[in-house]
Amino acid sequence: MLKNHCLAKSIADAGWHCLITKLDYKAKQAGKHLVNIDQWFASSKTCSCCGRKQESMLLNIRSWTCECGYVADRDINAALNIKHQGILKLKAEGLSVSANGGKRKSSTLLVAA
Ligand SMILES: [Zn+2]
Repeated sequence: MLKNHCLAKSIADAGWHCLITKLDYKAKQAGKHLVNIDQWFASSKTCSCCGRKQESMLLNIRSWTCECGYVADRDINAALNIKHQGILKLKAEGLSVSANGGKRKSSTLLVAA
């Protein structure tokens, strides 16, 4: 990303290593596991519905329609792809993934007879 002259200064200022170090520290403190996604994973260009990858995409394109008909907001699509990759990595490491972030409650329906 630093090769892009329009974004290089902002990206260099962001301090990604410091952010990841703090996230890892906080995750361990909370008993959580931080999953690193490959920096070259095409999260914005890959359809989160069918998995088809676009050849190229300019930064100013904020939404696009996949050949499967899915209309993808660039950021939401990327977030969904990153979530899927994280779940795959957790499963590959043998760590369980709870449904809905562990917030899902089982319920029992009472039926009068
Ligand atoms: Zn698609």
